[in-house]
Amino acid sequence: ELVDFNSFLNRIVDRFEMSHKDTVTFIRTFPDEAIFTEIALDKMMQVLDNVITNAIKYSNNTDKRVEIRLRQNKLYNRLTLQIKDNGLGIPAGKINRIFDRFYRVDKGRARKMGGTGLGLAISKEIIEAHEGKIWASSIETEGTSIYINLPIMNIDEDDWDD
Ligand code: ATP
Ligand code: MG
Repeated sequence: ELVDFNSFLNRIVDRFEMSHKDTVTFIRTFPDEAIFTEIALDKMMQVLDNVITNAIKYSNNTDKRVEIRLRQNKLYNRLTLQIKDNGLGIPAGKINRIFDRFYRVDKGRARKMGGTGLGLAISKEIIEAHEGKIWASSIETEGTSIYINLPIMNIDEDDWDD
């Protein structure tokens, strides 16, 4: 579907904000204009649900902060989304593996927390099916950022012939 990614993402963050009112602070940095994308809504929802849920659950912090930044590069017709947490972080040697099927950084902890270890592997498949990229950067004990880069619709006026 053709979707304004800006309002789509805002609605998802609204929902998380309501269900985690007293435990997580969400900080949004969004452009104040629509960013049109051609996406499978249910699939993209699954990606964002997983990444934001990870940002919340892989944290012992008593002051949980999840920063969500959306920006667009009009020259290249791409958007970049950053989801940054102040959680446990991921050791440098393990960061390349988190997109692998069934991989969990801490097996003991993962068992307690439930889940399958498939969330990011599925997210990567979905993002790549949208001609996008997903990657992570992290500092152990400080936090993690997940980045998602996606194509946006070219709404350049020059393209409108009639
Ligand atoms: P599922 O998503 O299937 O419920 P999961 O959350 O364990 O299970 P993924 O979402 O694929 O699986 O994440 C894989 C692993 O990467 C996690 O088990 C965790 O160890 C690590 N990880 C993912 N996101 C973060 C994060 N924001 N901070 C720290 N570690 C993370
Ligand atoms: Mg997950």
